[in-house]
Amino acid sequence: MDSWHRLRRWVQAICFAMFVALPFLDVIRFDIPRQRFYFAGYELWINEFGIVFFALMFLMFVVVAGSVLYGRVYCGYLCPQMIFSEASLHLETSIRKRWLKRHARLQRPAYFAAVAAASVALAFIFIAYFVEPRELWHRLASLDIRTAGGISGATVTILTFLDFSLVRLRFCTTVCPYGYLQGMLGDGNTLLVQYRDPEKQCIECKKCVRVCPMGIDIRSSPFQIECIHCGECIDACDEILARLKKPGLIHYAWGDKGELLGANGGQAWYRRIGLRDGKRVVVLLVLACYAAGLTAALAMRHPVLVRISPERATLYRVGEDGRIYNRFRYSISNRSRKNTAVVFAMRELPGASMILPANPVAARPGETVQGWFEIARGAGGGQMVSHFVLAATTVPDQVTDTFAETFLAPEKP
Ligand code: SF4
Ligand code: SF4
Repeated sequence: MDSWHRLRRWVQAICFAMFVALPFLDVIRFDIPRQRFYFAGYELWINEFGIVFFALMFLMFVVVAGSVLYGRVYCGYLCPQMIFSEASLHLETSIRKRWLKRHARLQRPAYFAAVAAASVALAFIFIAYFVEPRELWHRLASLDIRTAGGISGATVTILTFLDFSLVRLRFCTTVCPYGYLQGMLGDGNTLLVQYRDPEKQCIECKKCVRVCPMGIDIRSSPFQIECIHCGECIDACDEILARLKKPGLIHYAWGDKGELLGANGGQAWYRRIGLRDGKRVVVLLVLACYAAGLTAALAMRHPVLVRISPERATLYRVGEDGRIYNRFRYSISNRSRKNTAVVFAMRELPGASMILPANPVAARPGETVQGWFEIARGAGGGQMVSHFVLAATTVPDQVTDTFAETFLAPEKP
């Protein structure tokens, strides 16, 4: 790689686009007011525990696997905090040294005004992960700072402004737990940035220190908690020593004693991508298991959930017409985004009829409809306990769920 800096900028641009797009396309969104979890376009209800569990575990193991194999590359290449902190520093430098170079008094107000505007936009995108974006837009347009949602939005905006105008990269070494977590997840085979100079070629130019966004000297140790493995110091050293026709002294390496990243040396492909011991294989296998579980759970999911339960407080009633009645309750949860209806039918109970106020039963998107129906059968129609099947077919999807039920009748004299 001729320039880690250029790669970083490309990856960060893609990450920024994804950060903006994900909640609006419902790829990942946790809608708190409606208690819905959106994942890969699926609208999951919070009670769909299996799928939510697999989705969260899968995402967690993506982070774990990334950290075990590649160290803090998430921090250096993918993290929104890092992307916006660096953008804020770049903005400040541009205002000071280029755009308002001759207007010293305007520099600070212009910088704070730009960060304030950006904070409103960033806070909007961030909150869109938890509140439906159109609803959020209405709240913002009406300058709502009275409701809980409005107050939360204003608070996030202020915190975003303080973060990107004052805290910036200090967040990574003080507040963020991921840096500390990485210290526990990494081991002797994890990718890190390392200074190796066995032949004492360093010319002490300190350019690697000057370009470091975290302000550290990588020559002291490859295990400094501040290091986000961004690779900026690698580019700096490569560039300086290239002028002296020497190779750079800082590299990505697999652990402090392992091979350099990209060094071929006859290594198998799996070692070159970081699969260097059984621990990594196990981590990837666990990740694959959660991915398979998530895929299976999504594939088996019914967008319309129908539940039927018999009402057994009174086992049966004898009607004025002399027939026996059993009462059942139903619940239809329409977890899809389109109108649906459920047609109830009965099988394997000869001589019986179903009494339902409306059949089919309609349910709007996101709606749970509850109601009841009765099964009636003549008094001489059968045994005390008759087994039969209730079928619920969704329209227009034509998916049928069946329920094994029992019909109870009084003992024959
Ligand atoms: S950039 Fe390279 S040569 Fe310059 S101080 Fe850093 S390690 Fe030494
Ligand atoms: S030491 Fe190098 S890799 Fe680590 S944060 Fe500084 S510039 Fe990035």
